[in-house]
Amino acid sequence: MNLHEYQAKQIFSRYGIPIPRGRVAANPAEAKQIAEELGGKVVVKSQVLVGGRGKAGGIRLAKSSQEAEELATLILGMEIKGLPVRKVLVDEAVSIEKEIYLGITNDRSSRKPVLMASAEGGVDIEEVAARSPDKIIKILIDPLLGLREYQSRDVAVSIDLPKPFWRSFISLAEALWRVYRETDATLVEINPLVITNDQRLLALDGKMSIDDNALFRHADLAEKRDLDVEAPAEIEARKYGLSYIKLDGEIGCMVNGAGLAMATMDIIKLYGGYPANFLDIGGGAGADKVAAALRIILSDTNVKAVLINIFGGITRCDEVARGILAAIGEVQPNVPMVVRLVGTNAEEGRRLLADAQLITAETLVEAAQKSVQVARGGAA
Ligand code: GDP
Ligand code: MN
Repeated sequence: MNLHEYQAKQIFSRYGIPIPRGRVAANPAEAKQIAEELGGKVVVKSQVLVGGRGKAGGIRLAKSSQEAEELATLILGMEIKGLPVRKVLVDEAVSIEKEIYLGITNDRSSRKPVLMASAEGGVDIEEVAARSPDKIIKILIDPLLGLREYQSRDVAVSIDLPKPFWRSFISLAEALWRVYRETDATLVEINPLVITNDQRLLALDGKMSIDDNALFRHADLAEKRDLDVEAPAEIEARKYGLSYIKLDGEIGCMVNGAGLAMATMDIIKLYGGYPANFLDIGGGAGADKVAAALRIILSDTNVKAVLINIFGGITRCDEVARGILAAIGEVQPNVPMVVRLVGTNAEEGRRLLADAQLITAETLVEAAQKSVQVARGGAA
């Protein structure tokens, strides 16, 4: 789950990370009011969960509260990378001397959190990583020891931070680490962390991703979820306890088991196709769940074929077959469907499906090949 900038900054602030004064507004009048309170010179920032808002025109400086109102009107009417802007953050404008990047995320290969910093802040960090990877300093954090003071000092030196800022940088990095650890975040990022003209360190931007699997112990964070920005299909899937992630391909996948779902996606790619989604219907999925899954898959208009790959263990194949038939009756799919059923009651499952004009397959390879063929408009 990703947090909006204003939410991330509120959390940062609670941990002692300095942020600009400011508040979030849902309409231009509110934005004007906030700008007045802040003395007129403000930055109006679209609150959407994508990077590069600045380049897209979603971050604008206003010299007066009047102008803040006008810019808020403009920005609140925008769509940035397909996402409608529903809120703007109105922050006091600051004069920037230097922009730094500071973030913490998980480093899977070393299985440790990694702190990353760069003197080239403000721009896309992926861009820096591609262009000049040596400009990004990385420090691994021992999860038991936490971020050590000497590590932060090393980072300060490596990014050529002037010495007067070391002390505040070290406590800021320590605070960011505590945010990361205590909120079960998978990413905390300040880009840019700035040195202002009046010689302060300030977190001008904030980004946080929280591990969905930890949300059960962060009720306060869970309720910050912004349903507006999630794909409707993903919200629907969560309601049915389905793990669904929308992708860009044309072959819809319905699979039981996360590992099998990954393998199915891999093998589709191996035979030249692209999966339209990841979907794990889980063990013991009944007919209603299967129907919901099929509805969700077919709500994606890119889908040209559906591959159903079920290993029947806990989920019996006949039960799945009945679910598929019920779902077909309800959803009336207009794309070919390929089904591979193996396991408990597979025979009966296949018999049930035989009349429903579904393409069946014995092996996963066969199923993948057939899906790719029919997705391209060929015969199975
Ligand atoms: P992003 O483009 O979505 O990452 O949004 P940011 O919050 O990082 O803002 C992009 C850029 O806008 C920053 O790198 C700054 O250069 C600039 N910016 C943001 N707030 C201020 C401000 O208060 N004053 C000035 N002068 N520039 C700002
Ligand atoms: Mn930024």
